Amino acid sequence: MQSLVEHARTFPEHVAANAKDFERLADGQTPEALFVTCSDSRVVPSLITGARPGQLFELRTAGNIVPPYPAEDRPTGEAATIEYALRMLQVRDIIVCGHSHCGAVGAILRGDDLSAMPAVRHWLARCTDGRTPPADAGDLPGAVQAHALAQLDTLRGYPAVRERIADGSLGLHAWYYEVHTGSVSVHRPERGTEFARL
Ligand SMILES: [Zn+2]
Repeated sequence: MQSLVEHARTFPEHVAANAKDFERLADGQTPEALFVTCSDSRVVPSLITGARPGQLFELRTAGNIVPPYPAEDRPTGEAATIEYALRMLQVRDIIVCGHSHCGAVGAILRGDDLSAMPAVRHWLARCTDGRTPPADAGDLPGAVQAHALAQLDTLRGYPAVRERIADGSLGLHAWYYEVHTGSVSVHRPERGTEFARL
């Protein structure tokens, strides 16, 4: 923790050295994409993409799960984030990025006992709802990729997503990131469920 505090303490010095880049952030944000990924500490969107402050709007959840569009009386933070990105910020692309060694997808595949973590159990059960295609437990990459595609399907159930797809102003993308090599594979819709290295 101490190193984190120390960095935060001296961060204004870094900002002052790059004042022009940061000062314009006070004028607002026009991020290029909504980046949906896992909360996993090994996945750092700005490192992967080289995004500067203001370029990526982020939604991070356990297992990069996108919950179904909620009923009016049961709002979710995830839906609010997605709606804001699309309707207010007018992002043009949504990237759902799964990753290697994902604890959440691994737990789903293995059917782990999550009784000590009921919130995690409910989140995985409710949000996947049997939509993750069955996969060999030894094929975690394949399962993570199928899981990312399933989240794109869920996104298509959001009114704001449907509208923007209908008018051709939104792209949906599924990525797979390897935490130990840094490699990124992307879904190639023309090749079914296949992912290919960038
Ligand atoms: Zn994960």
